[in-house]
Amino acid sequence: MPVEPRPVLKLIKVQDAGIKDGSTVLVRVDYNVPMKDGAVADDTRIRESRKTVKYLLDKKCKVVLIAHFGRPKGKVDPKYTLKPVVSPVEKIMGARVHFGEDCVGEAAAKAIAGAKAGEIVLLENLRYHAEEEKNDEKFAKELSRNGQYFVQEAFGALHRAHASTGAIAKFMSGSIGFLVQKELEYLEKVMSNPARPFVAVIGGAKVSDKIGVLYSLIDRVDSILIGGAMAYTFLSAQNNNTGKSLVEPEKIDEAKKIILKAFKNNVELLLPSDHVVVKEIKEGAKKESTQSMAIADDWIGVDIGPRTEMMFAERIKAAKTLFWNGPLGIFETPDFAGGTQAVARAVSEATRSGAVSVLGGGDTVSALKVSGIKPEQVSHCSTGGGASLEFMEGKTLPGIEALSKN
Ligand code: AMP
Repeated sequence: MPVEPRPVLKLIKVQDAGIKDGSTVLVRVDYNVPMKDGAVADDTRIRESRKTVKYLLDKKCKVVLIAHFGRPKGKVDPKYTLKPVVSPVEKIMGARVHFGEDCVGEAAAKAIAGAKAGEIVLLENLRYHAEEEKNDEKFAKELSRNGQYFVQEAFGALHRAHASTGAIAKFMSGSIGFLVQKELEYLEKVMSNPARPFVAVIGGAKVSDKIGVLYSLIDRVDSILIGGAMAYTFLSAQNNNTGKSLVEPEKIDEAKKIILKAFKNNVELLLPSDHVVVKEIKEGAKKESTQSMAIADDWIGVDIGPRTEMMFAERIKAAKTLFWNGPLGIFETPDFAGGTQAVARAVSEATRSGAVSVLGGGDTVSALKVSGIKPEQVSHCSTGGGASLEFMEGKTLPGIEALSKN
């Protein structure tokens, strides 16, 4: 079925933005990183911003970083301070980092004034101000006072129209950093002109989170492989017994529509043909593999079964384009991670054989790690789960649209 072409948006790349050496550049980054015991537990998002920050530092610019962290709900809350990010940023960028106690006003201006050319200023959590999430223009204007140029590098936040991703573009000439460029390049490659066969693997907990992307993919892929708890809602839609597995009864009709659409589009929609099942969800619980698609009454599906692993791996290895979002089972429990690991291995093998593989963010990237596969063994791991899903739904991300208008 022909797919509507996506609108072409004019965006300026940071390297083409005419940024003058020695200027002060405001960079919106996505440092909403996992923390443990008050320290950064995974610095992937910080490392991913390195190329842009280093590019500007090499031009002797003062780099002013703004970011959000967690959900402080518009109030100052020490639980959500960005201070623990200072030291990892310093190490990764190899430059001194000054901290500004506020992202606007005097505190911000003072921190910026105190930094020298070739140094970094990290300003406190944007979401300490309720105006950020309201996309407030006055607040965006205040933010714009922190620099002469604006660079958007927070891919993971671009599906939201907030002051630092939306309104700010009205007050500053803006460009996209190297990470946003890479994210758009890979997602666009997969969406617009994929080499075939194009295979999508969709897992995770809920159908409701992924309805939009499922519809969009069915217009584009050759095969769609469904695993994780989502699969049980689809199996219920085909009148299979799913025991005590997680099912969203109110989404069964939607699942039926998706199955019908796949059939009409001549897209192969594969559901698990066997499952790993337990009677209670805990490490070490007695587990069995079912003989068929059906799950008996007292049992809970926690992973795809061995036959499904083989069937999915075969499709994945034959693909030339791959998009994967969501684990195939409760992969956080090592006993139930086998299916996810098999998919991760197959995706890395396909990539080695020349396929372009793009992974949605968040849990999918953790799933890759748990499988012992490095991010370099796939083509691209998105840093934004929500943003990459919305892009794959065919939506124009508000943060991209805002920049394309200036
Ligand atoms: P999502 O954020 O939608 O990608 O969902 C990820 C979550 O789905 C992970 O925390 C998994 O543990 C969970 N998940 C995957 N398979 C199952 C399953 N069979 N039953 C319950 N949860 C699952």
